[in-house]
Amino acid sequence: MTQPRSITIFGATGSVGASTLDLIGREPHLYEIAALTANSDPLKLAELAVRHRARLAVIADESRYAELRDALAGSGVEAAAGPAALVDAARMGADWTMAAIVGCAGLEPTLAALEGGRTVALANKESLVSAGELMMQAARASGATLLPVDSEHNAIFQCLAGGRMEEVRRIVLTASGGPFRTMSRAEMAQVTPEQAVRHPNWSMGAKISIDSATMMNKGLELIEAGHLFPIGLDRIGILVHPQSVIHSMVEYRDHSTLAQLGSPDMRIPIAHALAWPRRMHSPATPLDLARIGRLDFESPDEDRFPALRLARQAGEAGGACPAVLNAANEVAVAAFLERRIGFLDISAIVERVLSGYSGKKPAMIADVLEADRQAREAARQLTESVKA
Ligand code: NAD
Ligand code: MG
Repeated sequence: MTQPRSITIFGATGSVGASTLDLIGREPHLYEIAALTANSDPLKLAELAVRHRARLAVIADESRYAELRDALAGSGVEAAAGPAALVDAARMGADWTMAAIVGCAGLEPTLAALEGGRTVALANKESLVSAGELMMQAARASGATLLPVDSEHNAIFQCLAGGRMEEVRRIVLTASGGPFRTMSRAEMAQVTPEQAVRHPNWSMGAKISIDSATMMNKGLELIEAGHLFPIGLDRIGILVHPQSVIHSMVEYRDHSTLAQLGSPDMRIPIAHALAWPRRMHSPATPLDLARIGRLDFESPDEDRFPALRLARQAGEAGGACPAVLNAANEVAVAAFLERRIGFLDISAIVERVLSGYSGKKPAMIADVLEADRQAREAARQLTESVKA
């Protein structure tokens, strides 16, 4: 009998958290849950922590601590709250950590998990966008294994097993194009949050669903890929592929292109990261290409989706620009979800915050957090000056 592996899940109540717990719950004898965390839903967190026999449950919002503690009374699960408790949970040193908090809020716990030198499965792309260099440095220094969970990056990681990094000519990130792929700008100006969160292929949290609709998600993924697979952003292309069957591709210098395919179900890349370097059984629907019938491709349109251009510019500029892009986007997406601004205002606000920024290259996490704070403030002012 092998020892069960200890697992911590940041963002356990979210979409990626649920998919991860679904896989773990099917073979519970293989795993031991060290900690589960959530932002502001203590009852759901407590229910998951009890069901999966976690040692610790952490709620980020300190004002909800008493509810969590009461819900866990007598269960044997310890309760904790606040951002520092999240970092402490990361430092418990689980064998495998899922980083699935949404947004830059995940940066400090994800970094702390990387500093622990174990295996970190990374879904929280915003942390890598904001502080990619510092995170990759931390992983190298501690010897941590960083496994990409974002489906595109997981696909690239799998395709890279077919050659060596120095033999790669180009990486192609595929993009579904989101729910507004064929819409004009005039039509997009009218869309509601309900329309924007309805992704054609994937079921995901609200923020990433809006990012898919603006295509900022693909822009963030471009920057993410630049850190995980450092071949230069100019050699990472984006290809719109509406069916989301090919999750990304790697072209080698002999012009052989490898692709990874699968149903659009996050349990496939999560299972890859959970079992790596082995393979496990997955409950996801097997791919049926005969039923799908055809796969389509088109070039991305940066005029209708300016977020793509902004993200590439921020990625190429480097320094704190990606953190500023990300923070402005987080604020603008939240304002759109609350109907305070229109859909097209999201990218317009990001563009204005970016063009007004002239900060220095972050040398440490405190610098990233300061750039993030300034960009949030600038974006908040702009959301107030816009009428939805
Ligand atoms: P979600 O909104 O469903 O869940 C987010 C989780 O983070 C929840 O558990 C929430 O409680 C927690 N959280 C939110 N704000 C927090 C804060 N301030 N402090 C601490 N915890 C907080 O989001 P999701 O769709 O599961 O996405 C999670 C991450 O994975 C995102 O970075 C997203 O881009 C990435 N991702 C998601 C998918 C997907 O299919 N959902 C695919 C690829 C990548
Ligand atoms: Mg993705």
